[in-house]
Amino acid sequence: MEFPFAESYKIKMVEPIRKSSKPERETWIKQARYNLFNLRSEQVFIDLLTDSGTGAMSDRQWSAMMLGDESYAGASSYYKMKDAIKDIFGFDFFLPTHQGRAAENVLFSVMVKQANLIPGNAHFDTTKGHIEFRKAFAVDCTIDEASDPTLVHPFKGNVDLEKLESVLRSNPKEIIPFIIVTITCNTAGGQPVSIQNLRDVRALANQYGIPVIFDAARFAENAYFIKIRERGYANKTIREIVQEMFSLADAMTMSSKKDAIVNMGGFIAMRDPELYRQASVYNIMFEGYVTYGGMSGRDMNALAQGLYEGTEFDYLETRIRQVAYLGEKLSGFGISIIQPTGGHAIFVDALKFLPLVAREEFPAQTLAVELYLESGVRGVEMSTLMADRDPVTRENRFPELELVRLAIPRRVYTNNHMDYVATALAKVYERRTSITRGLRIVNEAPILRHFTIELDRYI
Ligand SMILES: *Cc1c(COP(=O)(O)O)cnc(C)c1O
Repeated sequence: MEFPFAESYKIKMVEPIRKSSKPERETWIKQARYNLFNLRSEQVFIDLLTDSGTGAMSDRQWSAMMLGDESYAGASSYYKMKDAIKDIFGFDFFLPTHQGRAAENVLFSVMVKQANLIPGNAHFDTTKGHIEFRKAFAVDCTIDEASDPTLVHPFKGNVDLEKLESVLRSNPKEIIPFIIVTITCNTAGGQPVSIQNLRDVRALANQYGIPVIFDAARFAENAYFIKIRERGYANKTIREIVQEMFSLADAMTMSSKKDAIVNMGGFIAMRDPELYRQASVYNIMFEGYVTYGGMSGRDMNALAQGLYEGTEFDYLETRIRQVAYLGEKLSGFGISIIQPTGGHAIFVDALKFLPLVAREEFPAQTLAVELYLESGVRGVEMSTLMADRDPVTRENRFPELELVRLAIPRRVYTNNHMDYVATALAKVYERRTSITRGLRIVNEAPILRHFTIELDRYI
């Protein structure tokens, strides 16, 4: 008889959550202008808005916080973080920042100029925002397989080498400051990039003399998939795989709110002392002095500890199997999700779910609102609202997929919660043909509009 799967931790502290009634939720979502970001968290029963900064820290992380050194300069906590980064990623230089987008802001202030091209695999929304804010362009070179939601491919986050080479070949080197590889590729469904692909990108980059930067928020989940799926890696540890991955990069930006399992924090790490020197200027200006950069000493301690816990196989297996568990439940109800399931979230195919809602009425946002009304579960739209308008034409950009993301916080919910979420979605699925109209925009910001957008119902 085989043992069923069981979590690699037990629970020491709990936080109550509260169910609500449908009429309550009707009122709240209207007040929130049909934007789930505007809800109060007490109005949410199970919160799958994001896995960013929402994880549960361990007893070891909490105890590391008590040893935080809050000195302005040269704190021991800074050196703890520096040692962990050197140990895990192999980078000699690093700058703490308050979160991932701050790392992008600092690094791109040095590297990105107007009219530059930044090729990569489905750039993360804040990454694209920081590129377009500087009037530069993010060029998506993800493999075509990524946009076929049901196609099973082990590394759907891979960079298409022909697309990348065509960008490198047909443009002067001076306007391509770097290639950015997002691991795992969030926008394409939390899909991993193979180590072979990272090697191939490196080889092309070397050929054209262009640096490679990893957007590394979910690097450990990526390493897990390499171990499980890529030939020759089954017997390597997660940390060995991470070492090998990052030996192929010149620098990294990190949102530590993901795989470092802290509630706030980020960093930039690099090999080049000159890049470190230039980035330090912007770090001091935007984030804080180079040895704290927007983080408290205690938070740097928790982050250093979190990097070690986040790269333990048992933890990663617990996490990623929970994501797969929810995916299997939904598939069992006949709901289309991106296959195979990725590292941190389930992505529901809203075009298949709500075929009667026009793209101009935002089917994914409509589905996210319906799921909330049904159950108090909060997911998030990842499609047209998130894609912003085209910076030149100001028209809506319609990505190939309309997705609702259900992101699973680390070490927070049990599989009973996953069963509840699956049933909630199944209940909306049962009445899907009655949902024929979506939402319209009442108010929107010029960039990263999905966070603050105001919507209304057609009917
Ligand atoms: C979350 C994330 C970011 C931005 O980080 P924040 O900490 O939210 O500012 C950038 N890139 C990727 C891939 C991410 O997942």
